[in-house]
Amino acid sequence: MPKLGCACGYIFDLSDIPCKDEYLIISDKRMMEAIEVYDNNPSTNGEEMYYLIREEEKRLYICPQCSRIYVEDKNDPNIFHPYISEELLYSKGVKYDL
Ligand SMILES: [Zn+2]
Repeated sequence: MPKLGCACGYIFDLSDIPCKDEYLIISDKRMMEAIEVYDNNPSTNGEEMYYLIREEEKRLYICPQCSRIYVEDKNDPNIFHPYISEELLYSKGVKYDL
């Protein structure tokens, strides 16, 4: 059962479909291409549209406990890079200079 652990201790259950903590990012360009495919062929079914859109997607997970965001690696879908808001960093006393 695939899982992803957050630094705060929360565990994302990646086997849930749909996953309540997962979000999908696609480029505006890909979305427009998908709309164009549909406009040119309205008989395109939902599954075809789904896979067309998802070809280019990146997954991200937002932790419901601490709001960290884990973004799928550009080249490896099994690697996720964590991001945390500066606000959360400061609230935890982390010093950060630009
Ligand atoms: Zn977390």
